[in-house]
Amino acid sequence: MNYVQRGFFWIAVYLCLVLAPLFVLLLAPGPSGSGLWWDFSIALGFAGTSMMAAMFILTARFRRAAAPFGIDLVYYFHRWIALVLFLFIAVHPFILISLEPSLLGDLRPSVISPHMLAGVISVVALTSLLVMTLWRQQLKIHYDGWRIWHALLSITALVLAIVHIEGVGNYVSSPWKRLLWTTISLSCLAILLYARLVKPMVMLQRPYRVEQVVQERGRAWTLVVRPEGHRSFSFMPGQFVWLTLGNSPFALKEHPFSISSSAMQPQTIQLTIKELGDFTSQIKEVSVGQTAYLDGPYGAFSIDRHPSSDYVFIAGGIGVTPIMAMLRTLADRGDGSSLLLFYAYSSWEDLTFQEELESLKERLNLKIVYVLANPPKEWQGEIGFVTDELLARHLPSGFKRCQYYLCGPTPMTALVEKTLRRHGVPLPQIHSELFNLA
Ligand SMILES: Cc1cc2nc3c(=O)[nH]c(=O)nc-3n(C[C@H](O)[C@H](O)[C@H](O)COP(=O)(O)OP(=O)(O)OC[C@H]3O[C@@H](n4cnc5c(N)ncnc54)[C@H](O)[C@@H]3O)c2cc1C
Repeated sequence: MNYVQRGFFWIAVYLCLVLAPLFVLLLAPGPSGSGLWWDFSIALGFAGTSMMAAMFILTARFRRAAAPFGIDLVYYFHRWIALVLFLFIAVHPFILISLEPSLLGDLRPSVISPHMLAGVISVVALTSLLVMTLWRQQLKIHYDGWRIWHALLSITALVLAIVHIEGVGNYVSSPWKRLLWTTISLSCLAILLYARLVKPMVMLQRPYRVEQVVQERGRAWTLVVRPEGHRSFSFMPGQFVWLTLGNSPFALKEHPFSISSSAMQPQTIQLTIKELGDFTSQIKEVSVGQTAYLDGPYGAFSIDRHPSSDYVFIAGGIGVTPIMAMLRTLADRGDGSSLLLFYAYSSWEDLTFQEELESLKERLNLKIVYVLANPPKEWQGEIGFVTDELLARHLPSGFKRCQYYLCGPTPMTALVEKTLRRHGVPLPQIHSELFNLA
């Protein structure tokens, strides 16, 4: 199966998982005479709960299932579908209460039943989860803390939603319906055990050792790591890994980084990391010999997925790392494709990989357009940002058949994507990577 067929297969699997409880409901309806809106509300509750369960699969990083889309796209889907499921779950009690206002009385603290309380807490947990995620930066919640809360609240919301369904009982009375929900619950538990226990245990057997910590221009550091006692993994240039340093792989302290080295040398993996926050600012203090764990490779941002003889790369800042991996790989392969790189950076002095990019021009059919926000006095090249006019000045005449790879700040990639679309570049030829999964 090719990537497109595999993509459709996994979408079908997802839909089956999410819709299964609804089909069960349709096959054997619950209490009669409840009315269309009542049934609709119940259906929303069931669909929302099965979507919640499917979230555990979406975020468990199953490489085979994520490969056709790229794990970043899976995470975006997870983020958007979470809003839909929240809507389903939130609307469910509203419809019921508007149809039968006396239900509100059953929610009073003195009389509320355990399964109704479970339902209420489930909705509260889901709401808190949503608020913490949508406004994490405004609420100044640190990413690592947010991840722990995210895990706890999502488990709470799902477990209590299932307790609520079981407690209400009307729609899960027959043994096979019970079996369905028991299977859903156990599958989620199994996925959780896999992601938090089995996978880290496997990673523990496959450690890496830091071989070098190299200072780069632009407050960036390259970690060179080597597998210890195993053969590492092969990867496509442009893919990324989750890196854990020092701590055991059981800690929730992993960060995603693109592999910046050549895919032709998988035994020496390089990650080039720019100082930004807590974790990235400590990279310069990492000592040679320190243990590291890599979970990967992930991502669909790679030239190997779209073979072509004409590539255009557009990098902004540290977004150059996956593109560097692609250029290094093409050089190692002796590839003669026509390559054009737009590289936007604040200053020439800080431009990461400056010297190596210049020397790569000798090994590749590569043209580079540097775009500097703060150029030196004698600068003759492009100034400012990557704009429509700037692209028009440098793109080759056959630009519509090129494959485009964009990685950098969101405003830059959004603008370039829009410009290319407007000039008639087909969407399947535009590939972008964002360094912001959360
Ligand atoms: C696919 C991908 C590839 C990346 N490749 C590179 C690269 O090659 N070089 C590079 O310098 N940076 C890369 N990044 C960005 C890098 O992961 C973040 O800059 C880093 O995790 C920030 O951590 P911090 O603690 O230093 O900063 P913080 O100040 O704690 O975080 C800054 C922001 O980074 C994000 N972030 C923080 N921790 C995590 C985490 N554990 N998982 C996911 N996101 C997190 C959050 O959006 C957060 O708001 C990549 C990101 C992604 C998603």
